[in-house]
Amino acid sequence: MASNVSEREAREVAEAARETDWKLPSFGKELFLGNFRLDLIHPQPELDPQAVEKGERFLKTLTDFLAQNVDPLQIERDAKIPDSVVQGLKDIGALGMKVPEQYGGLGLSQVYYNKALAITGSSHSAISTLLSAHQSIGVAEPLLLFGSEEQKQKWLPQVAKDKISAFLLTEPDVGSDPARLGSTATLTEDGSGYLLNGLKLWATNGAIADIVVVMAQVPKSESSRGGISAFVLDYHSEGVEVLHRNQFMGLRGIENSVTQLTNVFVPKENLIGKEGMGLKIALSTLNTGRLALPAICVGGAKWATRVAREWSNERVQWGKPVGKHDAVAQKIAFIAATTFGLEAVVDVSGRLADNKRNDIRIEAAIAKLYGSEMAWKIMDELLQVRGGRGFETAESLKARGEKPVPVEQALRDMRINRVFEGSTEIMHLLIAREAVDKHLEVAGEILEGDGDLKEKAKVALQAGKFYSTWLPQLAIGKGQRPGSFDEFGPLAKHLRFVERNSRKLARSTFYAMTRYQAGLEQKQAVLGRIVDIGAELFAIASAVAYADTIKRENPARGESAYELADLFVKQARRRVDALFTALWQNDDDAGYKGAQKVLAGEFTWLEEGILEQSGDAPQVASPEINDNGDGRAHAEGNGNGNVPVAAKVQ
Ligand SMILES: Cc1cc2nc3c(=O)[nH]c(=O)nc-3n(C[C@H](O)[C@H](O)[C@H](O)COP(=O)(O)OP(=O)(O)OC[C@H]3O[C@@H](n4cnc5c(N)ncnc54)[C@H](O)[C@@H]3O)c2cc1C
Repeated sequence: MASNVSEREAREVAEAARETDWKLPSFGKELFLGNFRLDLIHPQPELDPQAVEKGERFLKTLTDFLAQNVDPLQIERDAKIPDSVVQGLKDIGALGMKVPEQYGGLGLSQVYYNKALAITGSSHSAISTLLSAHQSIGVAEPLLLFGSEEQKQKWLPQVAKDKISAFLLTEPDVGSDPARLGSTATLTEDGSGYLLNGLKLWATNGAIADIVVVMAQVPKSESSRGGISAFVLDYHSEGVEVLHRNQFMGLRGIENSVTQLTNVFVPKENLIGKEGMGLKIALSTLNTGRLALPAICVGGAKWATRVAREWSNERVQWGKPVGKHDAVAQKIAFIAATTFGLEAVVDVSGRLADNKRNDIRIEAAIAKLYGSEMAWKIMDELLQVRGGRGFETAESLKARGEKPVPVEQALRDMRINRVFEGSTEIMHLLIAREAVDKHLEVAGEILEGDGDLKEKAKVALQAGKFYSTWLPQLAIGKGQRPGSFDEFGPLAKHLRFVERNSRKLARSTFYAMTRYQAGLEQKQAVLGRIVDIGAELFAIASAVAYADTIKRENPARGESAYELADLFVKQARRRVDALFTALWQNDDDAGYKGAQKVLAGEFTWLEEGILEQSGDAPQVASPEINDNGDGRAHAEGNGNGNVPVAAKVQ
């Protein structure tokens, strides 16, 4: 059972899991403070020639394998990745892309891991999801960061070779708020290990996994402060039952489970880090692990650009190709320019991750947030460009003799990226928390709204000192000086825009803090806009830096990279301006009040005129969910989304 936790307690748990130190410089943190440190992302670090050689070699193997062995239509039809494909991925080493060679993996750089996921996603998203859940959140990443040498020696060669891994955090009552985690890990009497009990929901790969990471609460005791802890678990242990294989609107083919843990013994040496460190491990894992998802989004966006180009040239309506009609042309421009922007964000963040000179927690989080939001818009626009064919399944298109372009599938597959690995709403809060970190450090006591007055006065004095030097700095900067950043030629003006607007963002954040004080954390729409402005500014700076990198590394493409960067930035700047306007001119209060009235049932008359059903009342008896054709987890579903209390072990 999930425990009852107040909002404040939930925040305290999240806060305790935060990495508090900033040991390395952070472009994102400085940006939110009004300090545009272009030098932290430009010039982009050069790629290591050996890493490039190894990466390119693997990309070729992977591309050939996918082209020759994967039939995306079959995966859609069967809602399953064929065993032969999974085996083939194992054979080419794809399970160990991110694992260093010394532990039996390929040891690809982050940049090449990202590229490999983008290619895989353009074959079928279920495969890229299998691979990223396996290595970005599954066993490999947390062990690399927090595991002991013995743990690495024992588990990494297995997950690098052929053992599939998964990450089990979510529970039926525990989604975005892990403080309420109900699964327990109780130390055995002889102290040799823990007994795991609980129900885990939506574990990707959980229906076929061999070795998993499980998050569970160690109860407080005299000898232990307990808390949420992370364990490596041999998934074939007694007491592990896969109750159900979940099906979704997209990502058909992922092996996603409901897993029951009943007195599952896990040896003490399988605890990762220390007791109580589980959430910290999960969050730190995601600091770079989060780059996998936007990398997959980049793959989708590139594919969308190709489909939009081909179809808009080919399809003629009203006397000309649809791409020549302005309304469609604007969509094509958005799709291509945004694809460039997303690739820039992922490339800048990926190289920073490899180079290890920067703290990239904000950049990776922005990449996830921005990548998933923008790639969704790209797919939506692509569907519009394809017209009715965008809504038709690839199978149906094929059956009537047309090219099976799976746009509706791409849209369905893309949607979940805004929900998992930190929903957009949670990413807004998480990035906002990092963005105001300095303010909380100097003035947190005042902003908190409680605490003793004497202490507050002391803090106010310290804060006064900080703000008396910080605030005046925000008045003027390089962005106002004509000629600055001129080495970037036609893109210089965009960097001046970022510099000016970084200071404006810092001033606006400060104003929001003084205006709302302790109430600011409840003003999620305001915080969301602050973060979105930061995300756009990071994307603009990345686009310029990346265009310059392309010019350096591939001069023949330099000019068109500059052109795409310019187009992307023009669009992004309009979004920034609109977000700044909406920061103080909005209907947030009316929206919140209106929503509370909806919740209180004051407008239920609006729901009249339709059948009496919202999904919680089954209309007809649901069929049993039996064999999915995978020979694995099967249980009875009751059609209402609740987890059935049925049992069937693997
Ligand atoms: C296909 C799929 C694969 C998944 N894979 C895994 C996996 O491998 N391992 C795993 O552990 N989990 C996995 N998950 C779970 C996933 O991470 C969760 O769905 C996600 O964390 C959101 O939790 P929730 O769905 O319970 O939404 P809830 O937390 O119930 O949130 C509902 C809505 O409220 C919003 N919300 C919640 N809290 C706040 C807040 N404080 N402020 C503002 N808005 C808020 C959310 O953003 C969302 O819009 C998967 C889910 C799916 C669908």
